[in-house]
Amino acid sequence: MTSSHIGIDATSVAGRPGGHDDDLLDLIGIGFGPSNLALAIAVTEQAERDPGRALRVAFLERQPRFGWHRGMLLDDATMQISFLKDLVTQRNPASDFSFVTYLHRCGRLTDFINHKTLFPLRIEFHDYLEWAAHRVAHLVDYGQTVVDVRPVLDEGVIVAFAVTSQSADGTVTVRRARDVVVATGLSPRLPAGVVTGPRVWHNLDILSRVDAMPADPTPRRFVVVGAGQSAAEVVDHLHRTYDDAEVCAVFARWGYTPADDTPYANRIFDPDAVDVYFDADDRVKQMLFDYHRNTNYSVVDADLINDLYRREYQERVQGRQRLRMMNASRVTAMAADHAGVDVEVEFLPTGERTPLRADAVVYATGYTPGDPGGVLGTAGTLLARRVDGAPVVERDYRLVLEAPADAAVYLQGATEATHGIASTLLSNIAIRSGEIVDSILARRAAPAVTAPRRTLPAAVASVS
Ligand SMILES: Cc1cc2nc3c(=O)[nH]c(=O)nc-3n(C[C@H](O)[C@H](O)[C@H](O)COP(=O)(O)OP(=O)(O)OC[C@H]3O[C@@H](n4cnc5c(N)ncnc54)[C@H](O)[C@@H]3O)c2cc1C
Repeated sequence: MTSSHIGIDATSVAGRPGGHDDDLLDLIGIGFGPSNLALAIAVTEQAERDPGRALRVAFLERQPRFGWHRGMLLDDATMQISFLKDLVTQRNPASDFSFVTYLHRCGRLTDFINHKTLFPLRIEFHDYLEWAAHRVAHLVDYGQTVVDVRPVLDEGVIVAFAVTSQSADGTVTVRRARDVVVATGLSPRLPAGVVTGPRVWHNLDILSRVDAMPADPTPRRFVVVGAGQSAAEVVDHLHRTYDDAEVCAVFARWGYTPADDTPYANRIFDPDAVDVYFDADDRVKQMLFDYHRNTNYSVVDADLINDLYRREYQERVQGRQRLRMMNASRVTAMAADHAGVDVEVEFLPTGERTPLRADAVVYATGYTPGDPGGVLGTAGTLLARRVDGAPVVERDYRLVLEAPADAAVYLQGATEATHGIASTLLSNIAIRSGEIVDSILARRAAPAVTAPRRTLPAAVASVS
C-alpha cells in the first residue's frame, strides 16, 4: 500500500454522512496481528458479496512484515485451539481463507487428515497466517507505528479520526478514517523491578535471545521463572537445545497445573458465551472468570507436563539430572553482569535460599492486554471509563467516547472485563471481525450521533 501524507487543516474536513473526501478512509486498523487480519478478510469478503457497500480500509503495523509471536515459534510447540478456530471458518465455513484451504493449496491436506489432530504446530499455523496476510497485503502498511489518534471535528461532532504513524526512518504520516479498530495485542509482563538485558529475558523473544548467546563458553545453566504454558515450553526448549546445561524451573506452585480443555469448560470460549457474559453483572462475570481461568492462565498442556516429568525421572534414573524443578519457590535476588546472572532462589515452605550462577534468566511471567488509551493518544483522553479504570465497551466492541461522535473506535483484544476470557485469544476472531464489519455498515446506514457528555477541550481536536 502506498502511504499518503495528508495535511490536517480546516479545508480537509469531510466525513459527515453525505460529505465527500477522497482521502478519507472508512476504517483504519491499528496493528495487524491475527485479529485485524481476520477483520481485513471479513472486509474483503463483504466487498465481494456487496461491492456497492465496500469499505475503504488500511491497516498499520509496526513490524516490518507479518509476524505472530515469532520469538516463540518453537519447533514442536502446538496450537492451543482447534484449527477450525482459524481466521474465518466460524463466520464463513465456505471461505477460501480457511486453514483447510491453506492446507489444500500447499498440498498437505491429506497428510494433515492422516495426522488426526485438531492442533497444528504453531509454526504451521504461523505459515497459514502469513499466507492469508500475503493475500490482503495491499491493505496493509508495514513498518508503521501508530503514535497518536486525533478526533476530526465538524460542528463540534467527531466525524473522523486522524491517525499519525511513524516509520523506522522517522517519517510521520497522517491518515484519516471515519472509524478506527485498535488491535495492538498483549504486552510482556515482568515482576516489579526486573529489567531485561543481554542475560535477563522475557520469553517473548526467546528464539532470538538463544541465537545471540555466545557459543563459547557453552551455557551451563538457565533459570526459567513462571508456571504457565510459555514457561514450560521454554524449559522444554532449553533442555532439548543445550545438552550440557542444567535448566532450573522456578515457580511458586507445587507443580505445573494442567490446562482445562475439556468440552464443557471449553464452552466459555464459544461465540454465544460472549452475549451471555456481556449481559451478566460484574459479580457474576468475575465468578465465571475465576472458575475458568484455568482454561488459559498459569496452566500447561497436560502432554507437556507429562513429557517433562518423564524426562526428569529418566535423568534421576541415569544419575545425571539437568532438569531441575524448583517448585514452591521464588527468586529473591538477581544481579546480572556481562557473563551471566547471580540468582538467589527461596524455597517458600522453609525459607531456605539457594544461590545459583546462570548463563541467563528467562521470565515467562505472562502478558497483559495494553490499555487502548495508550495507542489512541489524544483520542484516548475521551474514553469513558468504568470505576475500575477499564474503558467502557459496547457489545459491538465500540469504545464509548465522552464526546458527541458519529465516528467510532472499536477495540479487539483488551475486552476481557466485558466480553469474557476469549477476548485476548484466537477463539472468536472470525465471528468478532464479522460483528465489527456488520456494526460499521449498520452505522453507515443509520448514522446516529452519540449524545454529548461534555464539551471537547480544544486541545484534543484535530480540526474544528
Ligand atoms: C506464544 C504465544 C502463543 C499463543 N498461542 C495461542 C493459541 O494457541 N491460541 C490462542 O487462542 N491464543 C494464543 N495466544 C494468545 C494471543 O494473544 C493471540 O494468539 C493473538 O496474538 C491475538 O491476536 P491480536 O491480533 O489481537 O494481537 P497480536 O497478535 O499481539 O497482534 C498485535 C499487533 O499489533 C502491532 N502493534 C502494536 N502496537 C502497535 C502500534 N502502536 N502501531 C502499529 N502496530 C502496533 C504488533 O506489532 C502486533 O503485530 C498466544 C500468545 C502467545 C504469546
